[in-house]
Amino acid sequence: MARWLHGLGVSAGEVAGPVARLAAPPSLPEAGTAAVDPELEAGRAAVALAAVADDLEQRAAGLSGAARDVLTAQALIARDPVLQDGISALTADGQDAPHAVDQAFGEHRRALEAAGGYLAERASDLDDLRDRAVARLLGLPMPGVPDPGEPFVLVAIDLAPADTAMLDPMKVLAIVTERGGPTGHTAILAKQLGIPAVTACADAATLTDGQIVLVDGANGEVVADPGEQLIEDAQRRRHAQIARRERSRGPGRTADDRSIPLLVNLGGPGDLGAAALEDSEGVGLLRTEFLFLDRPTAPTFDEQRSAYGAVFDAFAGRRVVVRTLDVGADKPLAYLPQPEEPNPALGVRGLRLAQANPQLLDDQLRAIAEAAAGSEAEVWVMAPMVATAAEARMFAETARSHGLKKVGVMVEVPSAALTARQILEHVDFASIGTNDLAQYTLAADRLAGELAELLDPWQPALLRLIAETASAGGGLQRSVGVCGEAASDAMLALVLVGLGVTSLSMAPVCLPDVRAELAGHTLEQCRELAAAALAAPTAVDARAAVAELAGKQTAAPEVVQS
Ligand code: PEP
Ligand code: MG
Repeated sequence: MARWLHGLGVSAGEVAGPVARLAAPPSLPEAGTAAVDPELEAGRAAVALAAVADDLEQRAAGLSGAARDVLTAQALIARDPVLQDGISALTADGQDAPHAVDQAFGEHRRALEAAGGYLAERASDLDDLRDRAVARLLGLPMPGVPDPGEPFVLVAIDLAPADTAMLDPMKVLAIVTERGGPTGHTAILAKQLGIPAVTACADAATLTDGQIVLVDGANGEVVADPGEQLIEDAQRRRHAQIARRERSRGPGRTADDRSIPLLVNLGGPGDLGAAALEDSEGVGLLRTEFLFLDRPTAPTFDEQRSAYGAVFDAFAGRRVVVRTLDVGADKPLAYLPQPEEPNPALGVRGLRLAQANPQLLDDQLRAIAEAAAGSEAEVWVMAPMVATAAEARMFAETARSHGLKKVGVMVEVPSAALTARQILEHVDFASIGTNDLAQYTLAADRLAGELAELLDPWQPALLRLIAETASAGGGLQRSVGVCGEAASDAMLALVLVGLGVTSLSMAPVCLPDVRAELAGHTLEQCRELAAAALAAPTAVDARAAVAELAGKQTAAPEVVQS
């Protein structure tokens, strides 16, 4: 009998296959009572950690993009001298190497969890490092991805970045995890690899090796023992989608030829190669944090200018929307210490940090302007976390004083959506960050898997704020795009266009589906879908109502026999 399990759809695609569960982590034996040689044990731990780091670096060398960045960051943690000092202190206290490694990682993990937000999200990365080091010390097999000898659906409690980055899309049909937030590593990497994925699916614990499951990575559904009919239906949808994707080329347009530029989101230089090759109209969100985070000193002016220049050159002739630095609070800069904050997501982050440190913003804008002057790209610049019209005006004045022509703001705080009209009087465009706008509207931490329902971008409250912002843009003839994850959901993209959104920016791999869906609907039909979504009482109802109506809109017209 088919059984439905629900989670969070984080990477679209529908596929069926047998389950293979991730190998369990090594379990530690009871701590012995015999005396140990502290130096010998500390040395054994150091050798094990160095071997783990070497292995990660070797694997990183064969990869690119986010996968490479994630593994390199993991290797750096394994080589962290502070961690090694903690282990030495524990062996000096009489612990053997495996127990000292286990405890030191446990302490490190608790500290990250206590910090909350972005750092808490990285806490689970440590479990994988600990497991690998302990397995080495105990002579046990490395925990990790199974190889059942046929394509499979990987099921796990959680997936370490090191495992996700190495997945072979020819073998791994889909991923289902019990834990994992909507913006966690599993989600980001699965999307990059094009593997359908469902996270935060607590009932995945009941799935067993070899059991057949049907995974729907768009809707966050997993059907255990689906039976032939459901699998055939899914395969038919999949083939139709692949055919539509292959036909999808060129600029974003509705069926009645309205232009809706389709752009890509870029998180770092590693994303550049593949993204630039994608048939897109440019970059809708360049997250410049990659240049500033994970380093002891600020990037120099020249470093900044050449990093921006590289992106502009790769997108010569196309639009590139650069977002100024969005750090602070839970994404701290080592060289700009801030006092600890009880609610980091509500603290001094984004443009607020730039206001407190005007030189930081000034240098960045100057570097962007110089790089833009020497390039063929159409460079736009926008500020993150803008809450008031006064902030928008300040940012616009500063950016224009550097000669930047197209200046905008992100709308990701409810106050900005509610006062979009006043804000847009000062700037040329707005880009809606639905990830943060959902977090602040629903008062739900965006990294918390257990709050996935509240963070659903189909939430009526979020849709209303998007409608409010888009209508302010329409009134003032300003473009209002969406660059949060909502834009990569092909069905929701239609609703956004119907609400008045004028461009969509997303992970490159999602673009063909969105383009194909858009080409199948007129602007008027998108408006009908938007009205249906706004009228629905819940996110689940909105999604269902739109899916039904969109199906009717694209159904072949009945042939009347004469
Ligand atoms: C957003 O908040 O939706 C957004 C695009 O910005 P980020 O995910 O980088 O916070
Ligand atoms: Mg944001």
